[in-house]
Amino acid sequence: MAETLDLPSRLAILPFRNKVLLPGAIIRIRCTSPSSVKLVEQELWQREEKGLIGVLPVRDAETSVCPVLSPGVANDSGEQSSKIPFSASDSHKQDTKNQPELIHWHTRGVAARALHLSRGVEKPSGRVTYTVVLEGLCRFSVQELSARGTYYTARISRLDMTKTEMEQAEQDPDIIALSRQFKATSMELISVLEQKQKTVGRTKVLLETVPVHRLADIFVASFEISFEEQLAMLDSVDLKVRLSKATELVDRHLQSIRVAEKITQKVEGQLSKSQKEFLLRQQMRAIKEELGDNDDDEDDVVALERKMQSAGMPPNIWKHAQRELRRLRKMQPQQPGYSSSRVYLELLADLPWQKASEERELDLRAAKERLDADHYGLVKVKQRIIEYLAVRKLKPDARGPVLCFVGPPGVGKTSLASSIAAALDRKFVRISLGGVKDEADIRGHRRTYIGSMPGRLIEGLKRVAVCNPVMLLDEVDKTGSDVRGDPASALLEVLDPEQNKAFNDHYLNVPFDLSKVIFVATANKIQPIPPPLLDRMEVIELPGYTPEEKLKIAMRHLIPRVLDQHGLTSEFLQIPEAMVKLVIQRYTREAGVRNLERNLAALARASAVKVAEQEYSVPLTKDVHPMAESLLDTRLADGGEVEMEVIPMGVNSHEISTSFRSSSALVVDEAMLEKVLGPPRFDDGETAERVSSPGVAIGLVWTSFGGEVQFVEATEMVGKGDLHLTGQLGDVIKESAQIALTWVRARSADLKLLTSGEINLLEGRDIHIHFPAGAVPKDGPSAGVTLVTSLVSLFSQRKVRGDTAMTGEMTLRGLVLPVGGVKDKILAAHRYGIKRVILPERNLKDLVEVPSAVLAGMEVLLAKRMEDVLEQAFEGGCPWRQQSRL
Ligand code: ADP
Repeated sequence: MAETLDLPSRLAILPFRNKVLLPGAIIRIRCTSPSSVKLVEQELWQREEKGLIGVLPVRDAETSVCPVLSPGVANDSGEQSSKIPFSASDSHKQDTKNQPELIHWHTRGVAARALHLSRGVEKPSGRVTYTVVLEGLCRFSVQELSARGTYYTARISRLDMTKTEMEQAEQDPDIIALSRQFKATSMELISVLEQKQKTVGRTKVLLETVPVHRLADIFVASFEISFEEQLAMLDSVDLKVRLSKATELVDRHLQSIRVAEKITQKVEGQLSKSQKEFLLRQQMRAIKEELGDNDDDEDDVVALERKMQSAGMPPNIWKHAQRELRRLRKMQPQQPGYSSSRVYLELLADLPWQKASEERELDLRAAKERLDADHYGLVKVKQRIIEYLAVRKLKPDARGPVLCFVGPPGVGKTSLASSIAAALDRKFVRISLGGVKDEADIRGHRRTYIGSMPGRLIEGLKRVAVCNPVMLLDEVDKTGSDVRGDPASALLEVLDPEQNKAFNDHYLNVPFDLSKVIFVATANKIQPIPPPLLDRMEVIELPGYTPEEKLKIAMRHLIPRVLDQHGLTSEFLQIPEAMVKLVIQRYTREAGVRNLERNLAALARASAVKVAEQEYSVPLTKDVHPMAESLLDTRLADGGEVEMEVIPMGVNSHEISTSFRSSSALVVDEAMLEKVLGPPRFDDGETAERVSSPGVAIGLVWTSFGGEVQFVEATEMVGKGDLHLTGQLGDVIKESAQIALTWVRARSADLKLLTSGEINLLEGRDIHIHFPAGAVPKDGPSAGVTLVTSLVSLFSQRKVRGDTAMTGEMTLRGLVLPVGGVKDKILAAHRYGIKRVILPERNLKDLVEVPSAVLAGMEVLLAKRMEDVLEQAFEGGCPWRQQSRL
């Protein structure tokens, strides 16, 4: 370092044109002139120990020719320079004038050390150049300058103080005050720079570690200051002078940064706002003129405003919309927010703020007739709907509960809701809530999100375009809450008459009055509906249909509707009752009638193809009088043209179908069923077949598709007494299996399940219980009795009766507890052709809900204890019972 540096008395001198190297600074110089190349070569490159050189500032020659002066003797007064002939400069290209230029040499310079050296050869001239990285070390003054070959050397004397001198000087109170001031100003500068760039951390470290006299040089060297100021800094040999000079320069730099920042901000702001807009507008106008476009967008906005005016918004919303419209007007269509703002305003204009379908005086008798005409059976349900309508008639703004139809798919929930709409002469809109987990699906996303949309309710209202529709909230039980919020709580707000007057959709961001909407909900199951939501609704259960009911629904409603939808009448296609029965038995096994309708539609499609192919008749329209056959023949034979009428596009399907009148209707038979619907999917012998081996029992379960028959299969193998359970079972059903096994093991002696000598039923064997179908998740306690029956059957190697199904929860002591969904379960058993059903005794009361037609063909056996179940489940009762002490 400079403090410990021993300066030689003579140094080779590298002239530095119009620039100053200060101690502590690092510069990179490319030496190309012969003199400096020589200097570097001899003084730095060829020496093993990298030596020192002196860097001396030189000033360009003034226009007047300066006298050649030999180097003068420098003193501390500053501005003294010696003038000597100059022939080489390294930082700048040499002037190519012939006569040598006269140059001012500064009398003070800085001794420098090479940190890095690299040598290059210029092509194609072959000239050698050097690139030198120099670090300034300490000031010197030139005593005498003389030429050595092509470059100069100087006799010098050291100017900077030594370390000990410096340490003494630092005790001076003036210097202490000056250093403090310098450091404070530097710190300020650093913090300003810090806001602009992240790399000033290192500078801060410097401030703390480097002695202040060196710091002054380093700091000043890092700014861009004039050559004169650099020289002045170099000449500030006295520490006090140097510190005050440096403080002044740092402060000036700081102020200039601040001013520059202010100006930039101002200019930027002005440019981005008015000038940018102006420029873009000008450009746009020019482009439009060039293209000959008239102002379409402007017209569009006017049209939008007109639409908004006629939307009948409440005054506060109108104000909000106008504010938004003003914003839109100021924007250019290419601007990012333009389209989203426009879409939003379109929505505001489209929403039915006041538009309502006119409500006629409600005719209850007509409503009843309509419900009867649309739906077979469902007497209680229809009665409840009529009551609901009657209340609405007497008190139109009554805040009655929301009707919620609960039942398996395809039992008519949706069509009942649309019948209500028809009876009230209102429009109908269905909002599907199945799988909605995000609250935003109901309430919408805020407009700040990209791609935000209104929620499903507002979307539905826009679609239906009246503010008083019947709105069906379909599958309310299928909404679930997760991290994205709780849709049920949003629904709660929708259904609450106090709150829905001002429903707040996040996207819309203004309240919308939902109080005129009539809400009807549907669900497959009650349990998943959150209790607060359920509290607002009146549940009307729709059980599944019996095959007889399905047959009637098919004959009276589905077939006429399906034929009509396919442009057919019974004159073309007849589906006899017997065939419909077969479809019900062999192709559908469901609680509702949706698959039945689908299958009937498939039959209609197949025959529509045949009819359209006109296999049966010559195309004659009803308006063309059929010609006598003989006449037709003659005309054809004569080669004459047959008159054809073009059927206009607007005629309805009925007319089209009558135009294809066939001589005889196509009657669906068993062969056609198989051809169109494929081989039968279900058969009645299935249950008997599946229980043909011991270990299998038939249970009855309840799913969202209604009641279902569930087989339980148990088998044993060599093992250590473990119980294996498969079939996607829930915790409750797994526990039921444990209870069942425990109960059977505890009673194994009484039930005579042990062979002689055996005391442990599970000795050397594992039990595996499986619930097909394995892909469907199952849970609930009602499989308890079925599990015991299958285990007893397995251990006793006796088959369970194939015509008997059972349901019931069992306690560890063997008591049979009641279960839910009895009606649906019995209907399911009926569908499967099961003749006997074992039920918990306490479910007797539920039998009143089961259609008598179903009960008539079925034996219902009531069980109080598990032994009662076993007694009924096996052929010939339970013979071991007499001996047991149960
Ligand atoms: P859900 O909404 O319960 O799933 P849908 O209302 O969509 O069922 O009914 C499915 C089809 O079955 C509809 O075409 C409907 O008209 C018909 N349907 C259901 N129940 C009856 C019924 N009792 N009488 C006449 N048609 C019915």
